[in-house]
Amino acid sequence: MAIIRQIAQLGRPVLRKVAEPVADPTAPEIATLVADMLATCEDANGVGIAAPQVHESLALFIICPRPNVRYPEAQTIEPIVMMNPEIVWKSDEMESGWEGCLSVPGIRGIVPRHLALRVRFTGLDGVRQEAELSGFIARIFQHEYDHIRGMLYIDRADPRELATEKEYLNLLS
Ligand SMILES: [Zn+2]
Repeated sequence: MAIIRQIAQLGRPVLRKVAEPVADPTAPEIATLVADMLATCEDANGVGIAAPQVHESLALFIICPRPNVRYPEAQTIEPIVMMNPEIVWKSDEMESGWEGCLSVPGIRGIVPRHLALRVRFTGLDGVRQEAELSGFIARIFQHEYDHIRGMLYIDRADPRELATEKEYLNLLS
């Protein structure tokens, strides 16, 4: 049974550390951590979650968007587990869009991100693979990739454009 873990909140040092590479992506404790992270992300209505957010300083995150109360317009994809990710290529073209973070509750901000990426990562099967990402999925990747390097989206957002989640949802409707 997956366990819903506590989410590290803004101010926790683990969120500001550069995460360690995952030494053995096929280790049983990694599979357990991933199952717990998925359950935690789902419970908190996230669209992605990084290991430092559950107090594990590892280069591991999951991209798992689906429509929920926090992201009513999210597309649904099968969760993608990414370990030891790297960016191979990124588009010059940038796009600004709203982001939130389970570690920064109640706040949204506008963040510029690369529109498209080619990335390399290891999955739960231990196989190194490459993928091209664009749009919302590329945005989630860049947000989670920041997490494993000790960065948060609020570092990249213009503080004058921050909004509470309530006001952000008002803007959508
Ligand atoms: Zn986040």
